[in-house]
Amino acid sequence: MIVVMKKNATTEQVEHMVQRITSLGMKPHVLYGVERTVVAAIGPERDGLKETLEAGVGVAEVLPILAPYKMASREIKPETTVVRAGSLAVGGNRIGVIAGPCSVESEEQLLATAKACKAAGATALRGGAFKPRTSPYSFQGLKEEGLKLLAAARDATGLAVVTEVMATEDVDLVARYADVLQVGARNMQNYRLLEAVGKADRPVLLKRGPCATMEELLLAAEYILDAGNPDVMLCERGIRTFESHTRFTLPLATVVYLHAKTHLPVVVDPSHGTGHTYLVPQMAAASVAAGADGLILEVHPDPENALSDGYQSLTFDQFEQTMDLCRRVAEALGRSV
Ligand code: PEP
Ligand code: MN
Repeated sequence: MIVVMKKNATTEQVEHMVQRITSLGMKPHVLYGVERTVVAAIGPERDGLKETLEAGVGVAEVLPILAPYKMASREIKPETTVVRAGSLAVGGNRIGVIAGPCSVESEEQLLATAKACKAAGATALRGGAFKPRTSPYSFQGLKEEGLKLLAAARDATGLAVVTEVMATEDVDLVARYADVLQVGARNMQNYRLLEAVGKADRPVLLKRGPCATMEELLLAAEYILDAGNPDVMLCERGIRTFESHTRFTLPLATVVYLHAKTHLPVVVDPSHGTGHTYLVPQMAAASVAAGADGLILEVHPDPENALSDGYQSLTFDQFEQTMDLCRRVAEALGRSV
């Protein structure tokens, strides 16, 4: 249920409603919106609950939350959530751009990429230290050494660091170095990991599983929100289809759909979404046209010799051109990059 408080409801009345919901065996979540304060009551609903809550002092109305994902639903929060982490803001008028290599490979590679991305207007640095690879024989990432290099690149450029955490037991370690915890596509339904990042004091970038439905993605986000972390960015990174001309199929209707259903900001990953460098600039611009709040792009100083995903990575020049293209589309829509 959503308890919508009256515009002039006092802090005491909101607090009273929180206690009332708790005493009814439900979990209260207070959301302070621009227009109104609402208290979401999450949990098993007994008969007559609506009437019971309606009797509260300062209550304007009580509405059911129709979506199965309660806290992620736009029903309880009409304004898009802005997720902030250092230099990165996603969900506001300016589109956040997270750029960098697929994997952290060396100090030289990372620093050069971070500087080039920053110069071209990126607002955060990406780079995998723990890499989920299809083959156990592929490069698995530099692990803590990679995290240290990411932190050093942040010190050198001021860019917030976005990096993947693959396992529950690594959450504290990764959070020590990273500004944003990335949950990768393969882990979207690793519920213990979702709960662990939900308890961490860092925003989360949650990537869509290649075979996950929108509802599954939103329910995965719900795990993180329910564990107490309100800062979740959703990421469309392409899905598995019968099509083989691209690595994955990048469905951009997702952006519009998610904006209708959730207040969480939406990021698009045209690098993994297409799997081919030549498709990335236009699909990045198309993502902006579809209303994406953020982009995550793979950039490498020497894609041909990259240890992972070189075939979908942009060179520095290509990244700059992609930023120009995105900027023009964003400006046409009254946004900026
Ligand atoms: C990545 O961002 O490098 C990555 C592994 O992405 P995904 O989880 O979407 O495959
Ligand atoms: Mn990659």
